[in-house]
Amino acid sequence: MTQANDMSSADMAFDQRHIWHPYTSMTRPLPCYPVTSAAGCELRLSNGRILVDGMSSWWAAVHGYNHPVINGAVKEQLQHMAHVMFGGITHPPAVELCRRLVELATPLECVFLADSGSVAVEVAIKMALQYWQARGEGRHSLLALRGGYHGDTLGTMSVCDPENSMHNLYQGYLPEHTFVPAPRSRFGEAWQPEDIAPLEAALAASHSSLAAIILEPVVQGAGGMRFYHPEYLRQVRALCDRYGLLLIADEIATGFGRTGRLFACHHARIAPDILCLGKALTGGYMTLSATLTTRAVADTISDGEAGCFMHGPTFMANPLACAAANASLSLLSTGAWFEQVRAIEYQLRQELLPLRSHERVADVRVLGAIGVVETRMPVNMAVLQRFFVERGVWIRPFGRLIYLMPPYIITTEQLSQLTDALAASLENPAHFHCP
Ligand code: PMP
Repeated sequence: MTQANDMSSADMAFDQRHIWHPYTSMTRPLPCYPVTSAAGCELRLSNGRILVDGMSSWWAAVHGYNHPVINGAVKEQLQHMAHVMFGGITHPPAVELCRRLVELATPLECVFLADSGSVAVEVAIKMALQYWQARGEGRHSLLALRGGYHGDTLGTMSVCDPENSMHNLYQGYLPEHTFVPAPRSRFGEAWQPEDIAPLEAALAASHSSLAAIILEPVVQGAGGMRFYHPEYLRQVRALCDRYGLLLIADEIATGFGRTGRLFACHHARIAPDILCLGKALTGGYMTLSATLTTRAVADTISDGEAGCFMHGPTFMANPLACAAANASLSLLSTGAWFEQVRAIEYQLRQELLPLRSHERVADVRVLGAIGVVETRMPVNMAVLQRFFVERGVWIRPFGRLIYLMPPYIITTEQLSQLTDALAASLENPAHFHCP
């Protein structure tokens, strides 16, 4: 039986010819799989095949798809209004959401709502720049970690890892910032005190021109899926305090439980001066992000030359997205996520760590509901993707990384389906590029 939104081969041909997907070419398009519905932890393809979802749509769909509580909240909000401008207007879903966020992110108490993770980071950078401008100091530089990833817009690209990113492509256009090596001490292993030395040296040399340090706490995501020691974060916080620098924590990927704590900063018991949230904020339903800061930073910006914070997106605080976020946060507030993530972590350890001894594997890492198998050779994405789809799982590898970050509601059987497929994928040399 065909469903109303099934896709024809003409639709697929149109897609290939006219529609850009993330990081794709118009002349050499990669295969694309038509998904027509999703529920729980499963995606349904147009041909009826069901895939167990191992990606949470890039960290976002933490409660799974088609969740009755979030569906209900969005439908309810739709009865009142889908959208209204936020300039000079406020509305109940935004106030409820910001109240919840302020409660969760103490001591940060001023919230800017924007429309994507990249924009949340742009906003954070602009906050840091305006803060120093208001204090009469022209500090235009940021310090970031190698191996980091913060988004695809121009400002955020400039603080992504300078080699493994788009710096070369946009050279001459991107602002130049300071980079230090990412810490080498791994999460769960011994802290190596020399890890902080490059940052200490960089700050001693150039702190007076720096506006802020920006980093992804504990988990470096798209830049390499590495998990580092929380002690690094504690020491960065202490150095920011010593030099009076702002600390921007990009928790767009890590926020809302993914690492086993509500926020990754909690592993180090520190608070940033500016916090970026996105992705799972709406349970993966809609695009919405938030940048939070302290009263002191917000007041300084507001009393500066501009007299306000200079940003105001059209779809700021979209009511439907705020309603989805409120429903998602209600689901998280039951605390069930904590045990779910713990169980996923336990099972990922059991089922992935033994792959460390596999000849094609360089490393295996597990933290919270994230399992990463780093291979020795880069994956042949199109071939490997087809293999996974034929096995009934949705796993989207890149580079030398095959990783899982499923919805928290995944069952043990579904998770084993993912780890089995991952293990099986290592057996075929055609899944990897040659040395
Ligand atoms: N920061 C981090 C840590 C991210 O993982 C991402 C998205 N992968 C972003 C920022 C950018 O978010 P978006 O794709 O919503 O713009």
